[in-house]
Amino acid sequence: MAGAPDHLFNLRNNFYLGAYQAAINTSDLPNLSPDDAVERDSFVYRSYIALGSYQLVINEIDAAAATPLQAVKLLALYLSSPENKESTILSLKEWLADSTIANNVILRLIAGIIFMHEEDYNEALKHTNAGGTMELHALNVQIFLKMHRSDYAEKQLRIMQQTDEDHTLTQLATAWLNLAVGGSKIQEAYLIFQDFSEKYPMTGLILNGKADAKDPETLANLVVCSLHIGKSSSRYLSQLKLSHPDHVLVKRASSAEDNFERAVQEMHDSMAPYVTKFPREAFQNYRDLDIGSSPSNQTNFEEAKEYGLKYFKGNFLRLVKVKGMVDPDNLFKHEQSIPPPLLLSVSLAANSDPSLDNFLQCLPNNSLPSYPISEAIYTTSSPSFESVLLKYINNRRFLTPETPKPLAIVTALHESHVQATVVCAKSHGLQVRIRSGGHDYEGLSYVSEVPFVILDMFNLRSIDIDLSSETAWVQAGATLGEIYYNIANKSNVHAFPAGVCPTVGAGGHISGGGYGTMMRKYGLSVDNVIDAKIVDVNGNVLDRETMGEDLFWAIRGGGGASFGVILSWKIHLVRVPAKVTVFKVDRTLEEGATDIFYQWQQVSTELDKELFIRAMPQVANGSVEGTKTIRISFYGLFLGRSEALLSMMNKRFPKLGLQQSDCIEMRWIESTLFWFDLPNGTSIDVLLDRPRGAQVFFKSKSDYVNRIVPKEDLERIWKMMIKAEPMWMQWNPIGGRMSEIADTATPFPHRAGYLFKLQYSINWSEEGSEATDRYISLIREMHDSMAPYVTKFPREAFQNYRDLDIGSSPSNQTNFEEAKEYGLKYFKGNFLRLVKVKGMVDPDNFFKHEQSIPPRWI
Ligand SMILES: Cc1cc2nc3c(=O)[nH]c(=O)nc-3n(C[C@H](O)[C@H](O)[C@H](O)COP(=O)(O)OP(=O)(O)OC[C@H]3O[C@@H](n4cnc5c(N)ncnc54)[C@H](O)[C@@H]3O)c2cc1C
Repeated sequence: MAGAPDHLFNLRNNFYLGAYQAAINTSDLPNLSPDDAVERDSFVYRSYIALGSYQLVINEIDAAAATPLQAVKLLALYLSSPENKESTILSLKEWLADSTIANNVILRLIAGIIFMHEEDYNEALKHTNAGGTMELHALNVQIFLKMHRSDYAEKQLRIMQQTDEDHTLTQLATAWLNLAVGGSKIQEAYLIFQDFSEKYPMTGLILNGKADAKDPETLANLVVCSLHIGKSSSRYLSQLKLSHPDHVLVKRASSAEDNFERAVQEMHDSMAPYVTKFPREAFQNYRDLDIGSSPSNQTNFEEAKEYGLKYFKGNFLRLVKVKGMVDPDNLFKHEQSIPPPLLLSVSLAANSDPSLDNFLQCLPNNSLPSYPISEAIYTTSSPSFESVLLKYINNRRFLTPETPKPLAIVTALHESHVQATVVCAKSHGLQVRIRSGGHDYEGLSYVSEVPFVILDMFNLRSIDIDLSSETAWVQAGATLGEIYYNIANKSNVHAFPAGVCPTVGAGGHISGGGYGTMMRKYGLSVDNVIDAKIVDVNGNVLDRETMGEDLFWAIRGGGGASFGVILSWKIHLVRVPAKVTVFKVDRTLEEGATDIFYQWQQVSTELDKELFIRAMPQVANGSVEGTKTIRISFYGLFLGRSEALLSMMNKRFPKLGLQQSDCIEMRWIESTLFWFDLPNGTSIDVLLDRPRGAQVFFKSKSDYVNRIVPKEDLERIWKMMIKAEPMWMQWNPIGGRMSEIADTATPFPHRAGYLFKLQYSINWSEEGSEATDRYISLIREMHDSMAPYVTKFPREAFQNYRDLDIGSSPSNQTNFEEAKEYGLKYFKGNFLRLVKVKGMVDPDNFFKHEQSIPPRWI
């Protein structure tokens, strides 16, 4: 009604000018009509959204709320969880198709905002173009400017001016257009922001606007203020000199500035020992361009990091993220402004490799702006490049100066970063090495002979457990220790069958099969995977249903890195008793170890599934000084109490002489520490420790045994081991559940009919290639001499115990004949099915490494 008081004027204005907290604070308005109350609430909730409080909005707006508020909730949902954005957009489209609400102005506005975010400007305009409110017109201006159609933006502005020339949005839209047009129009934009700053409390939006539209008097003021507070004014003066060389201040200051600046700088330098370091922090309100700046027509990320970390420390990255959300084209900028992540490309222009430059520039365009990928990228010029690279290298063999280094590392923070890395590496000819826990025995997750980037998954590590269905979704970057810990936190009687080392990553471990101490009861990790999410070669995120059973089969044991990037696994949790029993019994040759080991061979694969006994022979000092012997450690896990264990052992494996005093009852989670050789009583918190980088050099190899080794041959093996010291072996019994699962059920074929999985390993700490060659020769000789006792034609091997000695293809191609060498050893007949699946999902062989699956038979 004309002339009626507009109760919402201040609230709206605060919102338009970016004073979101003030908008919330002034929203307590009595006696509003129902419509005004809804409008008020929509501004309040939009303010919360602008402040990042999405969840509050989602929680407070319930299903009974009016359409405009439901629309605002959709915006909160869209911005808060990009992984659900498709379903949010689907709901939005359903609403827009409903003729009873499709014309609601707030719904149309939100539709415009969401589609503008999606960079689907035509779709956005479908809903906003008809106008209807000043906000819709203002949004049209923004959309047209994004489309670089300032002519259309101007037309919209004219409509706004005709409707209400003094409206805050009309003024703002005028300033946006002026800034976009540039030249002398910038001064006009400045005056608009100046006017706002005089009328209203200062907000980031006004400040940024003013700073962007710089004029000589602003610069002169900055010079004077800087001098006044004892800070350097050189940058403002040089700007003033360039733009207005005849300004009186330029003339007066030029003679004094050199001396003044030197004095200030010296004073500042001499204070260094007494103030904060790394970074030397600063207060943003005491602006100081000496601490770093970007040229004013661009905002270079690396330069901005210089001053950004000093002013804001870790908060700088969040500011970059917010900037990317609200001003992705960097309209509002100055020498120390916050760069949007998009401008990362500018900072990387210095990289010499053109394919890398193109790759880096491609990344932001293929990932969600709300998760700035810039925060995830490390190039060789990034200060943390080396520490990020080294943290997940597990073997010092791949830490030498000669080891090829990646051109960049993308430490994905969101699945869209994985998608972007795949799409951009593919389109710019770079190889990708995927790393989750970095435990690959041959370093294939972080080393390649051809130009490559590492896609590092360690940040994607969430673990989401649902006890009611006894399942969990675990992301690839989670470690086994984290999975075990999180399960135990929820339940004492659930577990997951996987490996012994807690820092191994779920991404590589599970896709390579994953065996552990519960294999005889529950099979391998892959036998307990019921779904997975993967990014395929086209950058699509697929789950079991959308990837199809062939690909789902292949990634459960065939090695994920040949087929795509595993984002997460849905695992089935298995049941364990509240108390389990563990033991470790050592016996030397003098104590009858050969007889014991011989009996162990006969019984260990036939015992109850609940019992797993690993035998670990290694060289030790003999009882006579200067002699060597073999000490065999028998490690056991029994999924039950010690009494039942002892009774079984006395009957079936009496030679070991297991005593009650050898047995320790504990929770299953504690048994994972026991198997990692941690002292009894160690806190389970150690399971959360992340890798600490490579501690030793090592080389490992594997074998499968399908017939019992006679005693006399055991004696021979011990002699060979003494020659190969410090090499050690682990013999792991199969049988139980493993024999019940068909050898074609997953790519892992070593099931029924197999007795033991062998691992050989040798560790050393001496630097240099001579030592490396020597130790590797020792383990190779030992492996060669074991040939009579292990599988033949092919001599099989375990994929998770990667060993390039058994065959490899050069890393920029995958030759079928070469691949057959290692492929048949790892997968037997399943190799051919893997080749077929590879041909279906990655026919151009983008995902490759020295032991990957080739896409065809040539
Ligand atoms: C100390 C130690 C103990 C071990 N104990 C066991 C054990 O008890 N049982 C067992 O089965 N194995 C064991 N392993 C072997 C281990 O399971 C494998 O090395 C496994 O591949 C490591 O996975 P990762 O993610 O840590 O390694 P990474 O080096 O990150 O990856 C290994 C391989 O998987 C690929 N990959 C990694 N992440 C992904 C992904 N997200 N998508 C697609 N491909 C990916 C890599 O490109 C690489 O080819 C052990 C290894 C070590 C070093």
